[in-house]
Amino acid sequence: MEMVPFLEVPDLLVETGGDGLNLCIGCGTCTGLCPWNLTNTILNVRMLMRTAQLGVEPEDTGDLWRCATCGYCVDNCPREVPIIDVTRSMRAMTGSGGSQPATLRAMLASQGQNGNPWAGEADERNDWAKDLDLPDSGPADAWMLYACCIQSYDAETRRSAKALVKVLQAANFPMWLSPLDSVCCGCSVRESGAMELTERMGRDNVRHFEKAGTRQIITSSPHCYNAFVKDYPKWGGEYEVKHYSQILHTLLEKGELVPTKPVNRTVTYHDPCYLGRHNDIYEEPRQVLQSIPGLNLVEMGRNREESVCCGGGGAQIFMERDLDERFANLRVQEALETGADTLVTACPYCNSMFRDSIKSLQVDDRLRVMDIAELLLESLADANSAQPNKNT
Ligand code: SF4
Ligand code: SF4
Repeated sequence: MEMVPFLEVPDLLVETGGDGLNLCIGCGTCTGLCPWNLTNTILNVRMLMRTAQLGVEPEDTGDLWRCATCGYCVDNCPREVPIIDVTRSMRAMTGSGGSQPATLRAMLASQGQNGNPWAGEADERNDWAKDLDLPDSGPADAWMLYACCIQSYDAETRRSAKALVKVLQAANFPMWLSPLDSVCCGCSVRESGAMELTERMGRDNVRHFEKAGTRQIITSSPHCYNAFVKDYPKWGGEYEVKHYSQILHTLLEKGELVPTKPVNRTVTYHDPCYLGRHNDIYEEPRQVLQSIPGLNLVEMGRNREESVCCGGGGAQIFMERDLDERFANLRVQEALETGADTLVTACPYCNSMFRDSIKSLQVDDRLRVMDIAELLLESLADANSAQPNKNT
């Protein structure tokens, strides 16, 4: 079989931080640990690394588009190969020829045209917060709230963003809503390998954020958190960035939030990959949950560093997968095994993936998905009637 060389491999690997590829010794630990092993399909990560080393196109590009960028292989590789960076580079190369899966091409087209992945109208981005009376600017010490695109455009997922705002308003947390001309943080665009579009969107946001006087950002999604912390400084966007679970944890510690109403649920917490493995934030979300009276937190067997991905990262949320290929289905089963009645997340991607799985597995009478902020809101006596924040 004729092998087609990837002449651009070395340059692109260096550009995207994947130049540690040659450390790979082909041990296969990555292939053995990848959560695809829990399904009926295997992702041969070792083979992908080998083809990248050889500078040839993988025979099965399906493997290339299966990676959920969960980071489990990276954390366990004995040679610290930046496997996700290498995979992203390979996606960039094959994708530049237009060979991405069709649903990804549609997502990227919407990102380029509308600034969000869901073909939503750009000027409807902030509609989710219409009835919350959030200001669109604030004093220097106020935080800009940046909501994930899923929450902006998906009616069900936006409930968690609204709950978060109500909880923060109950604590008189100084905040304002990101400008209407903001676009997606770019996480899924980057993980699809569309590096030029990623940078263009990132630079657009940096310009809009600067115009609005942004210094501190609170994100509703671990993916936005990751992008703002790790990518945006390259484009001049230097901010103090917190995921909302960190802010809630601080407010509870300072006594500015006091949960009093019992929430009599047994819950299990799923660590989002981009909060846990990618950014080492494991305990704050749990401590927020533990502050809620009446709530019983139980752990799934695989938790924290060992947590199994929901299957939505790495732009997988935009792909079609057979039922027996959905990591979220496995995770829902694990949650049910704990006896929990509620699967809690701190990520809109996980929230959406689990909701779909619960419906397709027809277990909605036994398990529901909630966000940390929704649970905390249930426990705050007056939060539903919280005064809107007046920072302007
Ligand atoms: S990437 Fe790491 S874990 Fe995978 S085969 Fe190479 S050395 Fe082994
Ligand atoms: S990042 Fe996760 S999904 Fe991707 S190859 Fe590694 S273990 Fe598999």
